Amino acid sequence: MAKSNSFKPGKHFLQIPGPTNVPDRVLRAMDYPVIDHRGPVFADIAKRVLERVKLIFKTDEPVIIFPSSGTGAWEAAIVNTLSEGDKVLMFETGQFSSLWYEQAKRFKLDVDFVAGDWRTGVDPKIVEEKLSKDKEHKIKALFVVHNETSTGVCSRLADIRKAMDAAKHPALLLVDTISSLASIDFKHKEWKVDVTVCGSQKGLLLPPGLSFNAISSKALEAYKKSNLPKSFWDWKPMLEMNKDGFFPYTPVTQMFYGLDEALNMLMEEGLENVLDRHTRHGEATRAAVKDWGLEILCKKPEEYSNSLTAVMVPDGHDADALRKIILDDYNMALGMGLAKVKSKIFRIGHLGDFNDLMLAGTLAGVEMGLRKSKIPFKQGGLMAAIDHLSK
Ligand SMILES: *Cc1c(COP(=O)(O)O)cnc(C)c1O
Repeated sequence: MAKSNSFKPGKHFLQIPGPTNVPDRVLRAMDYPVIDHRGPVFADIAKRVLERVKLIFKTDEPVIIFPSSGTGAWEAAIVNTLSEGDKVLMFETGQFSSLWYEQAKRFKLDVDFVAGDWRTGVDPKIVEEKLSKDKEHKIKALFVVHNETSTGVCSRLADIRKAMDAAKHPALLLVDTISSLASIDFKHKEWKVDVTVCGSQKGLLLPPGLSFNAISSKALEAYKKSNLPKSFWDWKPMLEMNKDGFFPYTPVTQMFYGLDEALNMLMEEGLENVLDRHTRHGEATRAAVKDWGLEILCKKPEEYSNSLTAVMVPDGHDADALRKIILDDYNMALGMGLAKVKSKIFRIGHLGDFNDLMLAGTLAGVEMGLRKSKIPFKQGGLMAAIDHLSK
């Protein structure tokens, strides 16, 4: 069979947990002339998008859109709300929380980074303990990666919010929803999140290139006191110009056409139906993995992620060798293990523009790859998933 870059017939299966498959409707919407980003047509699109995107974050407060990957929106969340030397609380849930932590240190924040095993999420009990002890309210912010894309562990944000309230602590809550928004339930307003960070390329049905900060009025108050240098990421000129559908610098115009169409699609399906679809696909995938006799990296069922599943391969086996077989022979990309879990796990992305048959195809590809590999497993996981999907 042909390897490497030669033509492969049929659709490529992009089943990494982001970037995800971009629907044809979104690609078509982006195939449109570049227009004046300071003209009336673009302003109308931008105003409509900035208003409607709030529905996805479940907020009625402003959402800022940056021309960047998600990492930029992390930085924006930090520099707009905090000051040098501020004490903040973060949890090592996996690679993404570790990278956000490294970024926070570079901005000279004083980070209490609670070590973790990369198999569990943020523990609401530790949040409550740490905040209750902080009588002088030295901790300025709690950072949470809602869905840890490197491990397939979803932290229980509603319980984390409850823990903060129980401790009666005024810390800001900064949340990364890059791989959960529009796939796992998230409520910016109800959970009193102060800055929600997101990116375009996972549940939002878009290519990489846009990032988001949904902000609360409390975050805007914090902005006034924050002394970290900010220029490109500064919220203020954005908010002022966004009122008329404009931006302080050139926005990614094509991505706004795409986002407009992605919002149409999410609304047509209904956001709650979108979330239910991801729940079913998460359950069906886990049914397959358990039937294969393989272990899911996430330890606690209440923290299972419905946008991806990280699967462990038994000791002495190499998950990347399996991924290579599946890419070469079945034209499907699966997510690799990052950093601490490199070659120990593979990740199945089941988020974004995705349906039952695509999941069946994805799991068939994994099962066929397992047969060609030396990894011990039991055949039939695909059937277990199909049984679940047919219920
Ligand atoms: C993908 C991802 C990121 C990184 O975003 P970039 O767009 O690559 O900068 C950060 N956090 C989470 C949870 C992610 O899934």
